[in-house]
Amino acid sequence: MQDIQDTIVALATPQGVGAIAVIRLSGVGSIELANKVFKGKDLTKQDSHTIHFGTIRDGETIVDEVLVSLFVAPKSFTKENSVEISCHGSRYIVKRIIELLVRQGARLAKPGEFTKRAFMNGQFDLAQAEAVADLIHSENEAAHQAALSQMRGGFSTEIKELREQLIHFASMIELELDFSEEDVEFASRDDLRKLIEKLKYVIGRLIKSFDLGNVIKNGIPTVIAGKPNAGKSTLLNALLNEEKAIVSDVAGTTRDFIEDELLIEGVAFRFIDTAGLRETEDKVEAIGVERSREKMKEASLIIYLFDLSVESVTEINQEVNRLENLGKPFLLVGNKTDKASEDLRMQLGKSEHHWTFISADRKDNIEALKEELMKTVNLDGFKTGDTVVTNARHYESLLRTREALDDVLRGLDLQVTGDFLAMDIKQSLHHLGEITGEITTDDLLGNIFSNFCIGK
Ligand code: GDP
Repeated sequence: MQDIQDTIVALATPQGVGAIAVIRLSGVGSIELANKVFKGKDLTKQDSHTIHFGTIRDGETIVDEVLVSLFVAPKSFTKENSVEISCHGSRYIVKRIIELLVRQGARLAKPGEFTKRAFMNGQFDLAQAEAVADLIHSENEAAHQAALSQMRGGFSTEIKELREQLIHFASMIELELDFSEEDVEFASRDDLRKLIEKLKYVIGRLIKSFDLGNVIKNGIPTVIAGKPNAGKSTLLNALLNEEKAIVSDVAGTTRDFIEDELLIEGVAFRFIDTAGLRETEDKVEAIGVERSREKMKEASLIIYLFDLSVESVTEINQEVNRLENLGKPFLLVGNKTDKASEDLRMQLGKSEHHWTFISADRKDNIEALKEELMKTVNLDGFKTGDTVVTNARHYESLLRTREALDDVLRGLDLQVTGDFLAMDIKQSLHHLGEITGEITTDDLLGNIFSNFCIGK
């Protein structure tokens, strides 16, 4: 691959002013190239994993005093010769040094190109490479844990083992095809069926884990719903402990959605504030109501807030019925306990649903509500260290693998010939291979790595 022959350069630290900045070079020629602009020891004669002090020069002009770290192939992230230049963190200095290196023959790296090279050179598989990006972008403890375990290969190992077992069967069936005249069966159909069923079980578990994985990575889209003035904005504020939403006495003033995140034990709840669910004459408000309904459809969890100071049991029950029809997890919350009658609380407490009573205004019982929120997310699978699928691309490939495995099972039921079985098994292998990168296309790779930042 010609691409891999040239030396790439990029700033590895964030753009902007800092105490230091690190410029990274990778490629066969990177050490010679750095040596051309560096004055100090002869870098080409130094050992791997050593650091050298000196100056970067443009002709006779000193650009900066720097530390240069050397990584000799294959002992580097990309498995190629690599150099890291730690210079002073000024935009001007960084620009000058990169320009100098480009003038000496380096090429500016594309987003994710360092990681792509690491993948191409066998440092890790594709799922692990993608985990590098997830790790950089992880913003909470759970996401960080999931990315770290994936980068260290947990998920890949599981997929690879399954693939190897299937490859074994595929090759036995291929062997049968070579002997097709003689009507022999090297691959026991019963064993194959058992293996496929086992695979389907494991893949089914991985597919199911995506719900949790998605929650871990992206947070749970949560909507706070309820009639205008029920106290939704006040509750959002109480939960987030900040004055982020507009609170007002005028019904229906919260017209726009304010998205915010609440972290509980490392899990992110992404809140979507709604404009209230009351049917209304007000045109703008009506749009808000319509959008609220849409948001309820999009949400994975609904916190439904009732104003106990004005709503009656009959009204409340009607609303709860409607909520049940949506078929989504919901929490029933009675607000304004400071103004509610004891009788109403008693009646609701006796209903078949679990109620949480709060005063959003006084921040009463908000902790209990947070505990209820956590109960709705089942994190058990994650905590026991099971593999969790967090990547939508992997999820898609798993779904396709399962379809192909179903085809194999159907083939077995219909007692089709070995060549047909082999075709369906190959299809399953193809989709499994897409996850770890045994099977790739340039488009796929381009797509994945272009989502990385430059310098990674
Ligand atoms: P929204 O329209 O559902 O977003 O309701 P708001 O959060 O704007 O609240 C409407 C009114 O109810 C405001 O005046 C709040 O101060 C008041 N409110 C919210 N929570 C409570 C509470 O627990 N007790 C009382 N008495 N008033 C509350």
